[in-house]
Amino acid sequence: MVGLVVVCHSRPLARAAVALAAEMTRGRPVTVEIAAGLDEDTFGTDALAIGEAVTAADSGDGVVILMDLGSAVLSAETALEMLDDDLRERVVLCPAPLVEGLVAAAVTAASGAGRHEVAAEAVAGLAGKQSHLGAPDERPPSRTAEGPSAVVPVTNPHGLHARPAARLVTEARAFDAHVEVRNATTDAAWVPASSLTRVATLGLLKGHELAVRASGRQAQEAVARIVALAQQSFGEAEVDASTLSAGGADGAARAGSAAETDAAAGTDGARRERAASPGVAIGPAVRLREVPIEAPQEPFRGAEAETRRLADALAATRREIDRLRDPIFEAHRLLLEDDDLLSDARGRIEQGETAPAAWQAATARVAAGFDALPGPYLRERASDVRAVGRQVLRALLGVAAAAPDGEGVVVAADLTPAEAATLDPERIAGVLLAGGSPTSHAAILARTRGIPAVVGAGPRVLEIPDGTLVALDGGTGEVAVAPSGPVLAAFRARAEQHRARRGDARASAGEPAVTRAGVRIAVGANIGSLEEARAASENGADLAGLVRTEFLFLGRESAPGVDEQVAVYRGLAEALGGRRLTLRTLDGGSDKPLAYLPAPPEANPFLGVRGLRLSLAHPALFAEQLLAVVRVARETPVSLMFPMVTTVAELTAARRMLDEAVTRDGSGVPAGLRVGMMVEVPAAALGAAGFVPYVDFFSIGTNDLTQYTLAAERGNPALLPLAAGLDPAVARLIDEVCSAAGDRPVAVCGELAADESAVPRLLASGVRQLSVAPSLVPLVKEAVRAA
Ligand code: PEP
Ligand code: MG
Repeated sequence: MVGLVVVCHSRPLARAAVALAAEMTRGRPVTVEIAAGLDEDTFGTDALAIGEAVTAADSGDGVVILMDLGSAVLSAETALEMLDDDLRERVVLCPAPLVEGLVAAAVTAASGAGRHEVAAEAVAGLAGKQSHLGAPDERPPSRTAEGPSAVVPVTNPHGLHARPAARLVTEARAFDAHVEVRNATTDAAWVPASSLTRVATLGLLKGHELAVRASGRQAQEAVARIVALAQQSFGEAEVDASTLSAGGADGAARAGSAAETDAAAGTDGARRERAASPGVAIGPAVRLREVPIEAPQEPFRGAEAETRRLADALAATRREIDRLRDPIFEAHRLLLEDDDLLSDARGRIEQGETAPAAWQAATARVAAGFDALPGPYLRERASDVRAVGRQVLRALLGVAAAAPDGEGVVVAADLTPAEAATLDPERIAGVLLAGGSPTSHAAILARTRGIPAVVGAGPRVLEIPDGTLVALDGGTGEVAVAPSGPVLAAFRARAEQHRARRGDARASAGEPAVTRAGVRIAVGANIGSLEEARAASENGADLAGLVRTEFLFLGRESAPGVDEQVAVYRGLAEALGGRRLTLRTLDGGSDKPLAYLPAPPEANPFLGVRGLRLSLAHPALFAEQLLAVVRVARETPVSLMFPMVTTVAELTAARRMLDEAVTRDGSGVPAGLRVGMMVEVPAAALGAAGFVPYVDFFSIGTNDLTQYTLAAERGNPALLPLAAGLDPAVARLIDEVCSAAGDRPVAVCGELAADESAVPRLLASGVRQLSVAPSLVPLVKEAVRAA
């Protein structure tokens, strides 16, 4: 009789499903083995246990394995590879749903059917429920069936694997059409082209025929696009640079052709949204090259601390993967939850290994295990394990993943803040990103360094071959790949104009910025390092309007102490020649996790414990920073401000802690100390009047204020149109703050302050201070003078 194996994350669930199936077989004996959970209470699946269960279930007639989801499937596949050839031949991995499938399989096996029949019955186990409720697949695909269709061969050497499948899905979703595809060679059913998991089930190999059909307004265009894409091997083929600039439907091509008609420059809203850092860049495309990781010899800090370090690094890596939003990294994400890998690493930590050493050893063991197994699929898993291993190790050690491999225009999917920090303006002419948005931290860093950048340009830019000449305008968002002579000449002329404009602005950067109506506006710099403080000074900044003190707290294993902070803040003040220093207290959390602050994972980190909320949750750390600020304020003019304030209670709690710091310092309130808050949360903007008694000034963080007002995550390239520019709702909130502020000055230190088209509106609202990337101070001063 055919035996059954139940592979499931939960042991109690598996047992209950088996009990339910036993009810249905009415006492007829069926062999069902369970390989479920890591123990009674711990969710997980284990390939070794599955192998043992299969061996126990086999009586010579074969075994059908029923699984729940995710790693259960991967573990069962792994177990299968480890079995003797003879037994493996008799095992069927059954794609049926676990409960319905198990019941159907048990009944069928009990009747003495063969393994394939048992598996087929299990797969059909949903039929009863489907016919009762009406399954989505049974609904007639009427509209689609009537639309245009085509059949095209798959030419990709490895078939439609994850990356080309993801490309197909992305492109199909871009049309206002309902698109379906099927494998015509295997006569598979139609599946929606918008679903990666469904497309992945088609098993399209090289030489198979892909059928596509569509209905809806853009049906024709959608089918034509998918056919064209298939003919280009879904972007896997080497792309001829000339095709990118020759015109077409994608971003890079459109931008290229637009540059030829200079009249169109800068008038296309879609392009402006991608403009992330002004200036013109011309240079060869360069890629990022992986930075080797050298794990230092470090002392063991105790099992609890090391386990926490590992958990933080895993969480940071998960966020990183989520940020990239690329389905091909889904396998990596699953590995971050892989019980085998994690329990090995944790076990090693318990034995006294540091988190990096334990993680390195665990990933090496698992990868070697995959290497030893037959079949390309499993070997691919080994490279997945190694890739995730490196990514987590980097997060553990605070090492940037990659740095530019040469000089020119960096072309990348996106940049982590650590990678963006490696960009050297002397070598990098510009940045062109497939993802990202103008308020993402990568864009802010590019602006800070004065590197022209275009972001959110779409995945096609990743196909630009290394060394291809790229021209971009980070002020308008235009890009030309391998530009023709006239286009290149137009970009060069524009670059020259920029240089001249910057030169003029630099010449008067030391002068105050006064509007035509005679109102003096302080133009400050946003800084996050000593080098940027120097750049602020050189560019004529009137003050540091925002010091992102996170730079001192990120990428290290413990928080800086009071003395270290005092020394660093003092260094900034010196570099600024005694100009006012606006120190923002630590804005940790969300996309800036700190290894030494234990934080449970959050479903929505941007709506979580970040900014002032995080500082108030860690009073000892906060008290140290406040004491350091008070000490520096004794020597130099300091403004202190709190990020992400939502309620008056938070602000008064912070102010109480500041009072305590003053008491602890023992010399009274420093004469030059001013205390303010950032307005980044709509509730704080609308309730500004309530904060007035407790602040000397307001500083509006438009990056976060825009994100929260429009419910549009600041780094999400899909939401560029929402997040770009001054939205009318945000403008009203700014008005609200200015009118509630009375005699308290209002500053803007978000990226909007550098948007020359927004400056007049901000000043009209009553904003009297702008703070921008150091390299942009001269241009913003000019914009003020013109207002
Ligand atoms: C802002 O949110 O506008 C801001 C200035 O803060 P950060 O960009 O550091 O979040
Ligand atoms: Mg902010």
